[in-house]
Amino acid sequence: MDHAPYLLAEQLERDLGDPEGPGVVFSHANSLALDETEEFPAAICRRLEELGVHEYYVPAQYGGRLETYEQVLQLIRTVARRDLTVAIGHGKTYLGGVCVWVAGSPEQATALGADIKAGLPVSLGLTERAHGSDLLAGEVQGVPTEDGGWLVSGEKWLINNATRGSLLSLLTRTDPAAGPRAFSVLLVDKRAIPQESYRHLPKIHTHGIRGADISGIAFTEAPVAGSAVVGEAGSGIEIVLKALQLTRTMCAALSLGAADHALAIVLDFVEERELYGRKLVELPQARHLLAGAAADVLLDEALALTASRGVHTLTEELSVTAAVTKYLVPTGTEGVIADLTKLLGARAFLKDVHARGMFQKVDRDHRIVGLFDGNTLVNLSSLVSQFRSLVRGYRRGTGGLDGAGAAYDLARPLPPLAPERLSLVARYGSGVIASLPGSVEALRAEADANPAYKPALAHAERLVAAVARVHEAMEAHQNALTDVPPEAFDVARSYALCFAAAAALGIWRHNHRAAEQGRTAGLWQDGLWLRATLARVLGRLGEPTDDREAAEALLEQVRAVRGEGLLPSLLPLALKHNDEGTSC
Ligand SMILES: Cc1cc2nc3c(=O)[nH]c(=O)nc-3n(C[C@H](O)[C@H](O)[C@H](O)COP(=O)(O)OP(=O)(O)OC[C@H]3O[C@@H](n4cnc5c(N)ncnc54)[C@H](O)[C@@H]3O)c2cc1C
Repeated sequence: MDHAPYLLAEQLERDLGDPEGPGVVFSHANSLALDETEEFPAAICRRLEELGVHEYYVPAQYGGRLETYEQVLQLIRTVARRDLTVAIGHGKTYLGGVCVWVAGSPEQATALGADIKAGLPVSLGLTERAHGSDLLAGEVQGVPTEDGGWLVSGEKWLINNATRGSLLSLLTRTDPAAGPRAFSVLLVDKRAIPQESYRHLPKIHTHGIRGADISGIAFTEAPVAGSAVVGEAGSGIEIVLKALQLTRTMCAALSLGAADHALAIVLDFVEERELYGRKLVELPQARHLLAGAAADVLLDEALALTASRGVHTLTEELSVTAAVTKYLVPTGTEGVIADLTKLLGARAFLKDVHARGMFQKVDRDHRIVGLFDGNTLVNLSSLVSQFRSLVRGYRRGTGGLDGAGAAYDLARPLPPLAPERLSLVARYGSGVIASLPGSVEALRAEADANPAYKPALAHAERLVAAVARVHEAMEAHQNALTDVPPEAFDVARSYALCFAAAAALGIWRHNHRAAEQGRTAGLWQDGLWLRATLARVLGRLGEPTDDREAAEALLEQVRAVRGEGLLPSLLPLALKHNDEGTSC
């Protein structure tokens, strides 16, 4: 089963060239050299622009090529698979523009689209040195002027592309009164304000994504025109929280790319490394770790597919989907990298010995994904704050069931995003969770006809019971809005796992017939990937499930897929650049 966003990514992969090949701009060698010298990957970003990647940061109605968030997911995943520094440094422009796509006027959005298409970087200025995640404490201030504009003063710190960016979506306190209505988002165009009214802060040295432009910007009575306000003055916090639902969903692309890269490095290593007269891949413990890592990546992929399509079809529930995705995919990938580190052994610690020492860079670079754009605890806390409506929806069986079906069914065309449907709370619960009984019923019907599905069905039935228990536990914390207790965070973690498993079942249910015919058919045969991922989820929920048969079969399929030059993923994506082999 070929799927258009994967084919788009496959084309980008081909156009970028073999990352181990000579004369390739976006090569592993260049990425490592830039990392050593902490230099921004400017030439690589120019190459991405030659290929039009930045045009996918602009919605089609504003002159760009972004039609579905699935496209962005697969393109950024492809870039991140080579180098997270580039994905974060270049993809930042999408984050910079997103407030305007959510709430800007058509004229503002069209003008910004033209600037982005012309190659101007855009950044997002939320964070302040003293306040971190506490956006309501922000001190960057806009004092109203007689001509309807603002004089902006104050400092934003830890801002990606603050120095290189030409434009900046700036969360600004435009009303001295306290509360969420005190803030506005201003689209500040550095070209339109006097140079002496702002200064860039020095580059901040980081342990990962070392070449990225992480700096800051300080304004002193910078005159910003009234036309720079995005949406209504006073609605800045709401706009930012809605925009973050989109960016947090897209952070899955960064983690998936990192996981793909780490898995590829280790899959090659275990095939080469011989110990005790056998290949490392033949040792049971190594197989166990590898199969678990592969299953976790496939679970994350199923969740990311659902979430990126859900942007269009489950828009009202994105407050939940984005929080689950931004929590689970980065932390899941951290776990995958930690497990794979154990397999690489000394080579995870050595420079230039295996795969140029690139694994260590992936590990360092990926640590930021769980920290920025709302850290793990912020996302879990956001889930806890929605426990009340999620429990109510679960009990009543409400939630966007049709939207979930449309998100799962990869053959269904997606409608354009309607940003006005974004909401800070999923009022009717979760369509993904509501879809679980139907998916299990479909699996039961399949198992009646083909007993090979019975183990997957047994896992799914245990999941249904676990979901009921998790919702009971959520009920006990549905009033925990401030001072969230640690147990509520644990319940939110379990909820996220249940959500991801329900998404995996939905993706399986709506696509397995077509996918069983495609180039990754082996992963889908008899529900193999679903069975292996459900077993992993049950284990992570504290219900150990020893399905060694599924783990073994999954590992063999993943090895076969990689051997054929494909990405080990749910749907086919060729990585081969020539007949010689696969190097990314
Ligand atoms: C490389 C990099 C790039 C960045 N790029 C940008 C950018 O482009 N634009 C931008 O605006 N910002 C950016 N940031 C800032 C980033 O988003 C912040 O670091 C983030 O918001 C968290 O702030 P903090 O790390 O200062 O942690 P704080 O908010 O001070 O939190 C400290 C700790 O408190 C705990 N905590 C926080 N909130 C909660 C909660 N609700 N419940 C329970 N515990 C909690 C967590 O353990 C957290 O680690 C970037 C940061 C880095 C490192």
